[in-house]
Amino acid sequence: MAARLSSRREKFRGLSPAEFFYKNREIAGFSNPVRALYQTIRELVENALDATETHGILPEIKVNIKPLENDHVFVRVEDNGIGIPPTEIPIVFGRVFYGSKYQLRQTRGVFGLGVKMAVLYAQITTGKPLKVVSTQNKSKYEYEFEIQIDIAHNMPIIKNMAIREKTFPHGTIVELITEGNWTLARRKIESYLERTAMIAPYATIVLEELDSKKEYRRVSKVLPPPPETGKYHPKGADLELVKNMIRRSKKSLTLMKFLMENFDGVGKKTAENFLTWAGFDPETKLSKLTLQDIEILVRKMKEYEKWRRPKPITLSPVGESLLKQGVKRILNPSYVTAVTRPPSSFGGNPFIVEVALAYGGNVPQSDTPTLYRFANRIPLLYDEGADVSRKVISSIDWSIYKVKFPAPLAIVTHICSTKIPFKGVGKEAIAEVPEVEKELEIAIREAARRLRRHLSKLEKLYEVKRRKTIIGKYIPEVSRALAYVSNLDEKVLAKKLQTMLEKDIKTRGVINVPAA
Ligand code: ADP
Ligand code: MG
Repeated sequence: MAARLSSRREKFRGLSPAEFFYKNREIAGFSNPVRALYQTIRELVENALDATETHGILPEIKVNIKPLENDHVFVRVEDNGIGIPPTEIPIVFGRVFYGSKYQLRQTRGVFGLGVKMAVLYAQITTGKPLKVVSTQNKSKYEYEFEIQIDIAHNMPIIKNMAIREKTFPHGTIVELITEGNWTLARRKIESYLERTAMIAPYATIVLEELDSKKEYRRVSKVLPPPPETGKYHPKGADLELVKNMIRRSKKSLTLMKFLMENFDGVGKKTAENFLTWAGFDPETKLSKLTLQDIEILVRKMKEYEKWRRPKPITLSPVGESLLKQGVKRILNPSYVTAVTRPPSSFGGNPFIVEVALAYGGNVPQSDTPTLYRFANRIPLLYDEGADVSRKVISSIDWSIYKVKFPAPLAIVTHICSTKIPFKGVGKEAIAEVPEVEKELEIAIREAARRLRRHLSKLEKLYEVKRRKTIIGKYIPEVSRALAYVSNLDEKVLAKKLQTMLEKDIKTRGVINVPAA
């Protein structure tokens, strides 16, 4: 029997990006009141850091958190960044997928989504708008807006607006009232800011809570060189990207010129060699390409082995010296070392791995190395067990580096890339990409070898000290006997013997090692 078709008409309509994220907020980390408060602070602080350090400004960031009644929390984040032009303010805070970071370079933000999630979450839980005050260096005025999001249309609603003479040189203040469980989120938020202070020793970060104030004063005035905007590597390009690039190019352009203009490290010779290898005439005009041609082109671009390595100009590692200062600032260890590896790449994406190792001092004793993970200078606090750094550390036999657990050992790993290979949408754990894993292992083992040398020196120093004490005990007796047989002054003899002992210790070359 034939199935009866329903006569009811289906209704069709589109879903705005704001509506999508409003309905699927857990995707962006806003899954419950604890995570949401943590994520709100994180989005605001990361925008503040991007607005300062990426533009050569030493960050000065103030975070203020006040729990109110009914699980509502007041949050205020102030920065001394470049500020936002008044015409852009409503849109950057009120339109999902709008921002200034859609370029190929390392930043903390990427999609133009983060702060809108904080606005949406505040809007649906407390109904309160976001308040922004911002001014730029050249402006005489500061601009204040109260903004909500028209979820169905993905557009800002301006609730209030004011212009006045400015009261600070440049920067942005964002205030909102959102739902959050401050008691439960507090430890995570504090630890997030502490770790941010570790990876950014050039930043001053102040956290004012209801009953306490914590201040991380900058310990360095040096900023790592900011990342430059770069081009895609041919291996990292996909069909959509190339189709888009072709759409935006002059149709009279030859394939060879197209590759040279749009991709990283592709000169005339490389373009010609590749196109011939891939079976294309380098002089073919873009207008002649069929969709099938473009598909073949992209596939061949991925397969070709002879591209130059991606240039790392888009990246901004912290550097060994700053990384050590950051680690000292937070952990105050008795020994610290840092390794910044040369640039590498996976699938056409450049990346750099940095590792610091801290031992002794205030580093907590534990049964495995304490791990501090960072990606593009963002602390990663959740899902440590699933992270490639933890995997590499667990695979190392630490006894060959003279570490006996429980030990006061901490490892810091920092991966910077234009495409961090996160595991899943939570963006809290980095996947086991073989190239990344290899770089991490090399860096950690290098740092561990340095630690072994340091621990060996310490062992030697203890040994010498022990000898000195033991031998020193005999000096009075020996000098008394010597005085008796030689008729010399006992005190002079004792002094001479003591000098001989000191000299002997010095020639063993361990006298410059600081005592642990
Ligand atoms: P993303 O950070 O991924 O770009 P956001 O939604 O968090 O996305 O921010 C959107 C845009 O708003 C940013 O790209 C930036 O241009 C601007 N912005 C947000 N906060 C600030 C700030 N504190 N200072 C300057 N610009 C900001
Ligand atoms: Mg952001």
